[in-house]
Amino acid sequence: MLADMQNGPLLVSHLLEHAARVYPQQRIISRTVQGERHEYTYQQAHQRSKQLAMALQDLGVRRGDVVATLAWNTYRHFECWYGISGMGAILHTINPRLFAEQLSYIVNHAADSYIITDLTFVPLLEALAPQLKTVKGYIVMCAADEMPGAKLPNMLCYETLLAAQSGDYNWPEFEENSACSLCYTSGTTGNPKGVLYSHRSSVLHSFAVCARSGMGLDASETVLPIVPMFHANAWGLVYACAMAGCRIVLPGPHLDGASICSLINDEQVDFTAAVPTVWSMLLAYMESSGKRIDCLQSVIIGGSAVPAAMIESFEQKYGVEVWQAWGMTELSPLGSINKPLRGQRDLPYAEQLAIKVKQGRAVFGVEMKIVGPDNRALPHDGKAFGRLMVRGPWVVERYFRATEPATDCDGWFDTGDVATIDALGNMQITDRSKDVIKSGGEWISSIDLENAAVGHTDIREAAVIGMYHPKWDERPLLIVVLREPQKPFNKASLQAYLETKVAKWWLPDAIEVVTEIPHTATGKINKVALREQFAERVKGGQLIT
Ligand code: AMP
Repeated sequence: MLADMQNGPLLVSHLLEHAARVYPQQRIISRTVQGERHEYTYQQAHQRSKQLAMALQDLGVRRGDVVATLAWNTYRHFECWYGISGMGAILHTINPRLFAEQLSYIVNHAADSYIITDLTFVPLLEALAPQLKTVKGYIVMCAADEMPGAKLPNMLCYETLLAAQSGDYNWPEFEENSACSLCYTSGTTGNPKGVLYSHRSSVLHSFAVCARSGMGLDASETVLPIVPMFHANAWGLVYACAMAGCRIVLPGPHLDGASICSLINDEQVDFTAAVPTVWSMLLAYMESSGKRIDCLQSVIIGGSAVPAAMIESFEQKYGVEVWQAWGMTELSPLGSINKPLRGQRDLPYAEQLAIKVKQGRAVFGVEMKIVGPDNRALPHDGKAFGRLMVRGPWVVERYFRATEPATDCDGWFDTGDVATIDALGNMQITDRSKDVIKSGGEWISSIDLENAAVGHTDIREAAVIGMYHPKWDERPLLIVVLREPQKPFNKASLQAYLETKVAKWWLPDAIEVVTEIPHTATGKINKVALREQFAERVKGGQLIT
C-alpha cells in the first residue's frame, strides 16, 4: 500500500528559495577577485540567480545542457550554482589547477555549452579556446568596465547579461533524479572521470551535512567554506548553508595563512572547512605572527589524512575543535565524520587524539564495509584492514558517459582506499590501495608513517613511497620538507623519533630531504610524481643512504 504523504521533487532551487523566504536578511559576504569586500542578502542572491537563469535561457541554454564554471568561491559563483542547476541545466565545476590537456579533455567530454569564468582564468581560457569544440561562448564574471581585452570567441559580460533581466522567474519543477551538476575527479593517472549528481542526491546530501551528526549547521553560525566550489562540491556547503540559513563568508582567491586569518577575525567566523595544506599555512602564519583565531569554534579537515600534530595545535593552542571528515568526489562528497561520543571529551588528551586521527563514523545515507582479497567482509575490530566499499543514495553508480557501472552487482563502490573500522564504528584510512607498502607479506601504512614524521618538530611535510627490496618486496622511503631548511638537520634524530612512534619494521630504509613535495590539483601528495622523481630508488637502484 502506498502512503498518503505529499510527493514533491527534491530540487536544489528549493534550497535557495527557502533561504530567501525564511532568512531573507541573512548575509553572504565575499572577497572578490579584485580583493574587495562584497556583502548582500540571500534574497538578493536568489533574485540574481533567477536573472542568471533568464539570461542563460535567452542565450539558448536548455534543460540538460551543460554550463561550466571556472571560478573561485565568491557570490557570483554561488549564483551560478543555483542559476544553472535551478533552470534544469547542468553545472560543471572545473578545477583550474588541472593540466591544460586535462582541462580541454573534460570540457569536450562534458560538452560544455558556455563557460562562466573569473577574470583570473581568462588567459588560461584564451590558450585553451581553440581546442574547446562545444563551447559557444565565455561569460566573464565582472562589470562591463572591467571586461578584459582578451580575444575569447563570443566573450560576454556577466553583469551586463544580468542587468538585462528582470528576475521575474519561477524555477521549473521537474523529475528529482534529473542531472544537477558534474564534477571530474582528478586521478593522477588516466583521464579524469566525471561524476554526474542528481537534484535528489544533492538535496539528500545537504540534509546529512546539516545534521548535528554531520557538520551541524544552523542559522546562528557564520560559515567559511575555504574548500573550493570546484573541488568535490565545496563539501556540500553551498547547498547546506542555504538549507540551514547560515551567514556565509566566501574567501575569493587568496587562501594563504595571512588572508585566511584576517578573514576569520574580520568576519567573526564560527566554522570553516579545508584540506590540511591550507591549515598548515594558517598554523605557520599564526606561529610566526602571534595572531589568533579566537572566534572560531570548530573546523572540518579532510581531503587527506590529518596529522595528530595539526589537531593538537588547533585544539590545545587555539581552542578550536577539529572534526576530521572523509569523503570523495564520487560521494558528493561526505562519507564519514569524526565527532566525539559521550564521555570522549573527558579522556586524557592523548587518548582523544588517538581517536581523532581516525576518519570517523559513516553518516546516515552511506553504508560502509571493508573487504579482503576474497571480497568477504572483514571484522570491525580496528585491526583488520581491507578495501573500503560504500553505497548509498549520494554515491556514484556509473561515471559520466561510461558504459559499465562503477559498482559491483550489489551496488558497492570500491573507494580505492584501504581502511580499518573499529568496534565503535570509527573508520580509519591506512592508505590508497595503490600506495600501501607491501613489506614481507605485511602492509605498512604510508599515511601513518607520514603522520608520525610530521610530529617531529623539524618536519613541515612528509611523504612515504614504497621502493623495491629484493628480500621484502618493498620498503618505505621517507621524503621530507624541513620547517627551516637553512637549519642543520640530522636524519638520525628523525629516525630515533620515529622509533618511538611506529613498529621497528615500519621504519624507513632511507630518508630524503627535498625543498618541495609535488601535489595534485586537489592538494594531495602526488605519489606518482614522487615515484618518477625517485625512480632509481623505487626500482631498486640504491637501497640505503
Ligand atoms: P577527492 O575525490 O579529490 O575528494 O579525493 C578523495 C580521496 O581523498 C579519498 O578516496 C581518500 O583517499 C582521500 N581522503 C579524503 N578525505 C580523507 C581523510 N580525512 N583522510 C585520508 N584520506 C582522505
